[in-house]
Amino acid sequence: MRTSLSNLLGVFALYAVAQTSGRSAEATGAAASTPDCRCFPGDACWPSTQKWSRLNSTVSRSCDPFTSIDSPCQVGAYVRYAINVTEPADIIAGIKFAGKNNVRLVIRNTGHDYLGKSSGPGSLSLWTHHLKDIKYIPDYKSEAYYGPALKLGAGVQGSEAYAAANENGVVVVGGFCPSVGIAGGYIQGGGRSILMSKYGLAADQTLEFEVVTGEGKHVKASMTENRDLYWALGGGGGGAYGVVTSVIVKAHKDIPITVARYSFRAGGTDDTSMVKFYDALDFLHQMAPKYTDRGGFSINLYSKGFPTSGSFFGPGWTKHNTATLFQPFIQKLDSLGLQHSLNITEFPSYSAAYGSTPETIPIGTFQNGGRMIPRDTILNKRAQFNKVVKYITPSSLLGAIMKFLLLPLQWSQILKDQDTITNNWGRQLRELAPESGAYLNEADANEPNFQREFYGENYSRLLSIKNKYDPAGIFYALTAVGSDAWTQKPDGRL
Ligand SMILES: Cc1cc2nc3c(=O)[nH]c(=O)nc-3n(C[C@H](O)[C@H](O)[C@H](O)COP(=O)(O)OP(=O)(O)OC[C@H]3O[C@@H](n4cnc5c(N)ncnc54)[C@H](O)[C@@H]3O)c2cc1C
Repeated sequence: MRTSLSNLLGVFALYAVAQTSGRSAEATGAAASTPDCRCFPGDACWPSTQKWSRLNSTVSRSCDPFTSIDSPCQVGAYVRYAINVTEPADIIAGIKFAGKNNVRLVIRNTGHDYLGKSSGPGSLSLWTHHLKDIKYIPDYKSEAYYGPALKLGAGVQGSEAYAAANENGVVVVGGFCPSVGIAGGYIQGGGRSILMSKYGLAADQTLEFEVVTGEGKHVKASMTENRDLYWALGGGGGGAYGVVTSVIVKAHKDIPITVARYSFRAGGTDDTSMVKFYDALDFLHQMAPKYTDRGGFSINLYSKGFPTSGSFFGPGWTKHNTATLFQPFIQKLDSLGLQHSLNITEFPSYSAAYGSTPETIPIGTFQNGGRMIPRDTILNKRAQFNKVVKYITPSSLLGAIMKFLLLPLQWSQILKDQDTITNNWGRQLRELAPESGAYLNEADANEPNFQREFYGENYSRLLSIKNKYDPAGIFYALTAVGSDAWTQKPDGRL
């Protein structure tokens, strides 16, 4: 949620390889549904083709976006039908249909969710991708905020929002990857950004939402209207309370941004080289509080035996003060005798700086895990922190990712990697910072006790808001608030 997330320093994301089950429901011989289960394809209660066609005629331009009907396919974990939402009435029709026919319903925007929350076997999806309206509001006024803002349709993606902001000389807080949505799971899960040390998380920027609730009502949620829903949508996780159709976010005056790209490498993986490598990483981590306090942000990618690379973004920083920040680090690398590079560029605007980053990040079948490491842990539990860093940087991981790019991985290996992330590395991180939690948008789908780890002490309040706006429990997403009322069977049936 807003406050607790903002207090934390960083997110550690571990990547290993996994894949979603591709087993089709039919292949597993689905049992008939009971009143406690959602209807599943193949059940007697599954809506007839005529019923689906009737739904199709009540919504604007809906379609099956996945495959041609002529080609054989396995639907697997994908949804069965999708409504291409163009107006709130489409959402309301979908909610009514799902409720009446006891069909699983999911909300889908870009489909970026690492945990698979925007898909579901045997479900109908409300696809918000084409809600692309963008409006610049130069002087938004409310009790809490006066200034420029951007109204974004639920389907607007990062790059589209950045371009519209740039045309008006402002910036908005959005994700690192240009294709991530703004109003959907990103903002509703908190939303981290290059600009977050300066302006706060994406959820901190929200001024008002337009939402269709689980009861099919199209309402506003802001500091003055449906305040509880507004609070829940600002970090309480996507896919739980209603379908957001638009959001208004604060916009900030554009400023120059300095980007530093750096890398270093240890000579080998022998003990002496590794001592130097971890010494350099320790120095890098200890720098973080200094620059985050001044609005800076960095991403580092490291693995034992491979070159470490990182990017630093300094909104409002000059080339000179960025060089001053990095000077002791370079001295440290020199003193350790490690090869390194540093390249600092000052850009006149956010969009110029952002444009210098790689265009897209491939959305593979990653298995994520991680934990938000509080500043206090990095500074005051330094030895324990470094011990865990050592533990979770084995040389095999990056190798596994590379192997995945070239060769199909064995399912048994994927399961082993999942187990390592959840029960081995994940446990180390939980023990290191038990008071903290995990960032729900980039977390391990198998995180034990997700209610506490993703939502903390806010879970019960969020659940009561969920029950108020979605009393029939129509919205389900894995690890979303209220999802623990359901169990997904191995064949995907809810
Ligand atoms: C390549 C890549 C880069 C990323 N970079 C970043 C980053 O820089 N910073 C960061 O914080 N995160 C990042 N993420 C994680 C990202 O925040 C999540 O994947 C997030 O869930 C994406 O939201 P979405 O709406 O685009 O995706 P979807 O997968 O479509 O939706 C995600 C969740 O939100 C729900 N949802 C979607 N739309 C709505 C709506 N209109 N109303 C209500 N619920 C909705 C869905 O049901 C689902 O539960 C990245 C992910 C990827 C794959």
